[in-house]
Amino acid sequence: MSPSRHTLERRRTVPVAVGPVTIGGQAPIVVQSMTNTDTGDVEATVRQVADLARAGSELVRITVNHESAAKAVPAIREALDAQGCNVPLVGDFHFNGHRLLTDYPECAEALAKYRINPGNVGKGEKKDSQFATMIELACRYDRPVRIGVNWGSLDQDVIVRMMDENARAAQPKDAEQIMREAMVESAISSAERAERLGLAKDHIILSCKTSGVQDLIAVYRLLAARGDYALHLGLTEAGMGSKGIVASTAALSVLLQEGIGDTIRVSLTPAPGEARTREVVVAQEILQSMGFRSFAPMVTACPGCGRTTSDTFQHLAENIQTYLRDQMPAWRTQYPGVETMQVAVMGCVVNGPGESKHANIGISLPGSGERPSAPVYVDGEKVATLKGEGIAEQFKRMVDEYIDARYGSGDKA
Ligand code: SF4
Repeated sequence: MSPSRHTLERRRTVPVAVGPVTIGGQAPIVVQSMTNTDTGDVEATVRQVADLARAGSELVRITVNHESAAKAVPAIREALDAQGCNVPLVGDFHFNGHRLLTDYPECAEALAKYRINPGNVGKGEKKDSQFATMIELACRYDRPVRIGVNWGSLDQDVIVRMMDENARAAQPKDAEQIMREAMVESAISSAERAERLGLAKDHIILSCKTSGVQDLIAVYRLLAARGDYALHLGLTEAGMGSKGIVASTAALSVLLQEGIGDTIRVSLTPAPGEARTREVVVAQEILQSMGFRSFAPMVTACPGCGRTTSDTFQHLAENIQTYLRDQMPAWRTQYPGVETMQVAVMGCVVNGPGESKHANIGISLPGSGERPSAPVYVDGEKVATLKGEGIAEQFKRMVDEYIDARYGSGDKA
C-alpha cells in the first residue's frame, strides 16, 4: 500500500539557499551525499559527482584537504557544468581551510557551501582566528556554511570547560550527558560567533553527528530545542551493509518523525566494488517510506514463502525495481509524477490480487501448484492474465504502457 503523505508539522527553521537548493524553512528535506575520490583527481571526482547527482543527490560534498584538491575544484565545477550537471558542490574543510580558501579564490567561488568543523579548525590561539577567517571568506563570497560538529573531533576546549563546571556542580551529570551537551554547545556557540562576525542566520546550517543511534537522537533533540537554525542530519560512520542502513534508518526516522532535520546524508561504507550511489538510494528510501517525499516508483513485493518454490518472482521484483530506478533520470522530466507510482509484484494469489488492487499496477505470479498464469491489475481492475515463458517481459511492457498513458504529456488519467 502506498505510504500516506506526511502531515506532521516540521520544525520551523530559517531557510538557507545553497545555490538553487533550499535547506530548511518549508523546503522539502534535501538528500545529499559525499564523494570518496581524491578531489585532486578531476576526472574521477567529476564522474562520481555526476553519478551521485544522477542517482538523485541534490548536493554533493567533496573534501578539500590540500592544495591539489583546492586547485581542482574550479575544473570539477566547469566539467560538471559542461555536461549539464548543475548539482551544487559543498567543500569539506579541516585544519587548513582558512588558507586554502584564501589562496584559491576560484575554489571559494566554485563551491556553493563550505563545511567547517569547529573541532578541526585549528589548535590553541590559532583556532579563533582561523575560524574567523573562514567565516569572513564565507561572507565575502556570500556562501552558506555548515558548522558540522563531530563526536570524534569535538572541540577539546568546550569539553574540558564543561567537564570542569560539571565536577563543581552540586549534582554532577554523567559524562555521556556532558558529551552530548558539549556537542550542542560547540555548534551553537560557533554559530553565534559566526553571526557576530557578520554571517547571517540564513547562511548557517548546523550538524552534530555521532555514530551511536541513541546519542544522535538525544543530541539532535537538544540541538533543535536551542534555536531555529536549519539542521543537517546524519549518523556518522554508520558502517557497512545492512548494519549501516539499519542504524541510519533507526536514528533518522525517529528525528524526522519529530520534525527534526532539513537535509540528510546516509554515511554508508561501500563494500569493495559497491556503487557510491547506494547512500543516495537509502536516503531517498527513508524519506519515501516515511511519506515525506517521492523519488522513484516503489515496488511492493511479498517476502515469498513455501508457496513460491521458484525464484521467478524474486527476479521479477528485483528487475522491475532496478528498471524503474534506472529510468528515473530521464523520467523525472518525461513523466512528471511517476515517482509516486506503486507497483506490486506478488508471489501467489493468496495476497497478490489484494495488494495489486492497492497499487497502480500489480501482478501475482503463480505459486506452487497454481495454474501457470499471472493476473495483472491496473488501477484496481483486473485487466489481463499473463501466461507462458515471457510473463516478466509482458509485465514490463504493461508497466511502460501504463506510465506512458498515465504520466506522459498526453495524460489520459
Ligand atoms: S503472497 Fe503468496 S507467496 Fe507471497 S508470502 Fe503471501 S502466500 Fe507466500
